[in-house]
Amino acid sequence: MHNFTALTRNLIVPLLSCLFLTPTNAADRDPAEKPFTVTESYQRLADTMEPLQAWQATNKAEHEAWRKQFHPTVTRILGKMPEPVPLEVKWAEKKEFDTFTRHKVFIRTEAAYWAPVYYFVPHNLKKKVPAIVCMHGHSGIVPYIDEGKTKADKEKTRQSELDYAVYFAKHGYITAAIVMRGWNETAGDQDRGVSHTKRSCLQMTMNALLIGSTPQGQRSWDAMRVIDFLQTQDQVDPNRIAAAGLSGGGATAMYLPILDERVKLTMIAGAFSTYRASYYSMPHCLCQCMPEMMRFGEMSDVVALHAPRPVLLINGIEDKIFPIAAAREGYAKLQQVYQVLDVEENIDADFFQGGHRWSNNKSLDFLKQHFGE
Ligand SMILES: [Zn+2]
Repeated sequence: MHNFTALTRNLIVPLLSCLFLTPTNAADRDPAEKPFTVTESYQRLADTMEPLQAWQATNKAEHEAWRKQFHPTVTRILGKMPEPVPLEVKWAEKKEFDTFTRHKVFIRTEAAYWAPVYYFVPHNLKKKVPAIVCMHGHSGIVPYIDEGKTKADKEKTRQSELDYAVYFAKHGYITAAIVMRGWNETAGDQDRGVSHTKRSCLQMTMNALLIGSTPQGQRSWDAMRVIDFLQTQDQVDPNRIAAAGLSGGGATAMYLPILDERVKLTMIAGAFSTYRASYYSMPHCLCQCMPEMMRFGEMSDVVALHAPRPVLLINGIEDKIFPIAAAREGYAKLQQVYQVLDVEENIDADFFQGGHRWSNNKSLDFLKQHFGE
């Protein structure tokens, strides 16, 4: 009996395996002939991974049950938040423009950090108006507030419509353009190989992960403290706060409303696609990495946590780093989410002809549609 068992284990099973499990894919090739790369390995791991908490509700009750599972997952992944401190604001600069005043304020967001913010207030406001928290990407704050000094900088602002904080202020909205944590004057050790913008994304990501935080969580935290500030301002309607961001700032605009229900509308530009098609498959800054996220869901699932609040997705169809095909798939899924909740009008997309940049094709109409002005 013993010998028969051993025979089965040592001879018959391998023989049958050879007969019926003939190697058919690249994973079984000879590594000496063609070495395996980590890229192949990770692609295969992603191919065989089913997100554990992907949205698949068919009615409102199922949506709510899904939300109760997935919301804590995303907040956990965003990591440990700083210890709260009382709101403190230092008013540092004031500059008058034709149609608005621009202040520079510093808002204390934790014991040893003050977020610099450019705060735009339109002239002659007769009543409370909506306020928009504006978050920049990896070009840093300067081109986003139209303060570029060279012709090339100014052209970049125009061509990529980076100055949306200024644009919205010109159209009657109060805006707060945050210098995102790790950029410009808040940069610590400069990232290696980055010469055009002072930033320390890599060092801050390393530090954040080591203490159980993430840059996206910390940047969202700063934005939440900026909303605390906005809600103290007489001319801000505290019930009509929006978030807008491009690229790295668009990523933060994706997570902030999940942490803060006071954000009633969001515009996400040059950031929505899938994790798989974007960050996972091509070079991106480490600061946008959400540890473990793909185990649980995709970007469309993350944005589904905004529902039923209005979301406008803004993507250039030639944006190489946030591929449009994946963005379209994600948008189709979000349309299903909003349909299930009977608020189809609250999800929209501006997929425009162009590259990795902002677009105002739909932004003002979207704001008017949902904020009434
Ligand atoms: Zn970064």
